[in-house]
Amino acid sequence: MQLAAASGQPSPSRLGTRVERLPLARYTTIGVGGEAEIWFVETLEALAEAVEQPYRILGGGSNLVIDDSGVPERVIRLSGPLAKADLTPDPELSDPASGLIVTGWVGGGTPLPGLLRKLQALGWSNLEGTVGIPGQVGGSVWMNAGTRFGEMFDGLHTIEIVTPQGVRQVTPDDLNWGYRNSDIPRGHIISRVRLKLQQSTPEAVRERMEQADAARKGQPKMKTPGCAFKNPGGVSAGLLIDRAGLKGEQIGQARIAPEHGNFIVNLGGATAADVLGLLRLVRGRLAPELSGPLELEYEIWPEEAAADLR
Ligand SMILES: Cc1cc2nc3c(=O)[nH]c(=O)nc-3n(C[C@H](O)[C@H](O)[C@H](O)COP(=O)(O)OP(=O)(O)OC[C@H]3O[C@@H](n4cnc5c(N)ncnc54)[C@H](O)[C@@H]3O)c2cc1C
Repeated sequence: MQLAAASGQPSPSRLGTRVERLPLARYTTIGVGGEAEIWFVETLEALAEAVEQPYRILGGGSNLVIDDSGVPERVIRLSGPLAKADLTPDPELSDPASGLIVTGWVGGGTPLPGLLRKLQALGWSNLEGTVGIPGQVGGSVWMNAGTRFGEMFDGLHTIEIVTPQGVRQVTPDDLNWGYRNSDIPRGHIISRVRLKLQQSTPEAVRERMEQADAARKGQPKMKTPGCAFKNPGGVSAGLLIDRAGLKGEQIGQARIAPEHGNFIVNLGGATAADVLGLLRLVRGRLAPELSGPLELEYEIWPEEAAADLR
């Protein structure tokens, strides 16, 4: 989708939409990002209107670094009912005899960690391998987020997608999804999903969550967008950064985490320029020992702000 500069002034009074110009730093886990016109959208009708002009869809901002200048497009954030989960089993689609549960609609803006806590309490299995991922359901489905213990597509029945062309529903079988990839084009908005879960027990689900969580030991607990670089050719990017003596390097208020070289953290008051500076520093230092450039794990908005890091 072509994205161009947004035009005109926000109109704050549409039904199901609130429009405000705000710093995007509030909506990213690294806590950087300049201003944009944010459209908090609560209904499918409002969403249809929001996509009439150039837009970006923002989830939990846990895989994003947004430039200090912000973005020119309107930024859509799913809110209200589109950020809530109806976990009532659908009687038509569920099968109590086999323990199959197909839920009501779960909004794309629903925070994944809270959803997983509810599923654990109910003893409903299939998504516990995604524990510790701080995104929203929509963003996590879009990239099929996961760990070696499981991924989002382990627990999906139906995905509802909104584009300027309208609303459609697909199933995982309709998509050529794979590792960290849903096959849903960028900019297509995952508005809601129905989850496909298996009845288990709260204890068993908790046990598997604890296992997946234990694998995160050593990750920093500070403001961060997660891992910075993909592992080049299967070698740990964190290890390479550590060996190059870059752990603890700091630019402004951004630092390469001393606990884990592949995490950049905001010490408080960091700017996107600080974070991008560290990403460039790592890429430059490791370039001589790699056959190709280190690839970024997270996205940078707008893309032109760091074209050299692509
Ligand atoms: C501490 C930490 C640990 C992490 N661990 C993991 C991990 O183990 N595994 C893993 O896979 N990831 C991990 N991540 C990365 C990140 O949390 C996931 O990729 C997450 O799924 C991103 O979801 P989000 O809602 O935050 O998306 P955002 O960061 O807001 O957006 C990322 C992309 O998704 C798109 N998007 C957002 N919402 C929607 C929607 N409703 N419809 C369509 N597209 C949408 C955005 O446009 C953007 O292109 C980690 C991040 C952090 C900070």
